[in-house]
Amino acid sequence: MSEATKLRDQIAAFAKSIYDRGLTSGSTGNISARLSDGTVLMTPTGSSMGFLDPARISHLAPDMTLLSGDAPTKEIPLHTAFYDTRPETGAVVHLHSCHSVALSMMPDIDPDDVIPALTPYPIMRLGQVKLLPFFLPGDPEMGTAVRGLAGKRSAVLLANHGPVVAGRELEATVYAMEELEEGAKLAMMTRGIDRIGLTDEDVARLRLQFPT
Ligand code: ZN
Repeated sequence: MSEATKLRDQIAAFAKSIYDRGLTSGSTGNISARLSDGTVLMTPTGSSMGFLDPARISHLAPDMTLLSGDAPTKEIPLHTAFYDTRPETGAVVHLHSCHSVALSMMPDIDPDDVIPALTPYPIMRLGQVKLLPFFLPGDPEMGTAVRGLAGKRSAVLLANHGPVVAGRELEATVYAMEELEEGAKLAMMTRGIDRIGLTDEDVARLRLQFPT
């Protein structure tokens, strides 16, 4: 099986798993993955993550011209911003996952570090998640905002919209996205409760031992 065929199947399988667990709904969310020749596979515009046809996934040249398949997601500038500013990036996942979106609307979150330090895995898999402003879907300014981070963040949360995570390969990127959503879910569940989170010392040790 060729690298591209294997990756197409992997994208469809992860997308279905994400959709089936309600981590994104309708025709929202998109996934891309970069092949070793520099070309990129990307989920098509208007497609549902639950029902992707691997053969119709968009195949794009390194300059993002369509080589084959359906037209790509209109949120393409988000993906290219990560590939261009973080050269090690092999996959980008963007969802409209409910708890992350809810957390983005809370007035007291730290825009530089959105997920409160309650459990270790979001810190280990994502580092600090940056809150970006609200943009209309498909607005290329979303990509400009990601480029403004100069490759320093692997994960961002678009206010009133959803998270975007970049990683070295697809599987780890999907898992990191799941940690983001779980971190946001815990933050929302324990909101207003006198909860006991990790200490500053715990966070410092985690960052030292598990750099992202
Ligand atoms: Zn979106």
